[in-house]
Amino acid sequence: MKQAVNYPQAGASATIRPMNADTRTDKPQLPELQLKDLQNLIQQWGQPRFRAKQVLDWCNKGVLKPGEMKNISAGLRNTLNAELCCEPLQLIRRECSTDGTRKYVFALKRKRFAGKMIESVFIPEEKRGTVCISSQVGCVLDCPFCHTGTQGFEANLTAGEIIAQVLAIKADLRAEPLPDELHSDITHIVYMGMGEPMANEAAVFDSIGLLMHENGLNISRRRITVSTSGLIPQIQRLGDIHPVNLAISLHSAMDDKRDTLVPINRKYPLADLRRCLDAYPVGKQRHITLEYVLLDQANDQDEDLQALIRFVNPERERINLIQFNPYPGSPYTGTSRQHMKEFAQHLISKGIRATVRRSRGDDIMAACGQLKADTKADTKADTKADTRADIKGSS
Ligand code: SF4
Repeated sequence: MKQAVNYPQAGASATIRPMNADTRTDKPQLPELQLKDLQNLIQQWGQPRFRAKQVLDWCNKGVLKPGEMKNISAGLRNTLNAELCCEPLQLIRRECSTDGTRKYVFALKRKRFAGKMIESVFIPEEKRGTVCISSQVGCVLDCPFCHTGTQGFEANLTAGEIIAQVLAIKADLRAEPLPDELHSDITHIVYMGMGEPMANEAAVFDSIGLLMHENGLNISRRRITVSTSGLIPQIQRLGDIHPVNLAISLHSAMDDKRDTLVPINRKYPLADLRRCLDAYPVGKQRHITLEYVLLDQANDQDEDLQALIRFVNPERERINLIQFNPYPGSPYTGTSRQHMKEFAQHLISKGIRATVRRSRGDDIMAACGQLKADTKADTKADTKADTRADIKGSS
């Protein structure tokens, strides 16, 4: 039975820990090892191969410290500690919203990026618990309404760092469950935190494979969603390799406006995106989500509505209207609640499924588009130019 927990006051920090400099490491990361890789390593260390499954069972419960893996010998615990980076992330801060949402700030340990921070969010509902995970430190793109985009790009996460967010949150929920009326386990995963997942394709694809694997968390692809601003070749490969749920940061169905709001549109304009979405594999009872943050005067006028009605394919897509969550210095203001409802009603009257997303965790800056971690500039962000060039040259 779940324990009732008294939340800290909204915005209060429940956990703050300094980054420990001696945790920097470039050793292989335990959460990104497949069973066969770990079996081979353990065999090389002179231990029986079946121990690998025991170790992974602990990992899948969120237990990454070898010292807490109770059925593992002391010798193997020591070797795991010596040879691997078992916890690729260090929890720096946890904040709890009055609605139960929890925001986590983690620091990377890889030597080159040690101390750089990412954010992840757990969003509990009555019957589901969704983790929103980051794929990059900052973001390689710079959508002007997005707080993460203002941070610039600092690093791609590894698959181990992506999965470690999920495992760390799982461990936190076990240690401190939410009240009974809210779900305290992870049922859904969305790649909607910091970063453009499709600009970190290899690590994101690997992490999806590991999360879905029967020796991993065994999460159905129906419960995993990748949100992208529209990098078409990567979306096509995602559909071929891991046809998980797809969400597109649309935000305008007019090329001239989307060129500004979602600058990747200059490379992959709406006509190309349309063809890509029509070809993406969507299973029964599933749909592609078109995310549309409503910005006062910028994309909420009648011409925007008409363009959106023309763009959407109601058979396969639904529209998620998002309230703009302002952040300090943001150049936009949100559309009024009343106008959002009217905008949604117009879409619905045309037979389009449209919902207004309830904003969660905005009192702790955990709502959509608000994530931005303060990163320590103790490493050079010189991969920024390289990665931007990759994107610009990827078609
Ligand atoms: S909206 Fe997404 S792709 Fe655009 S800057 Fe923000 S995190 Fe990056």
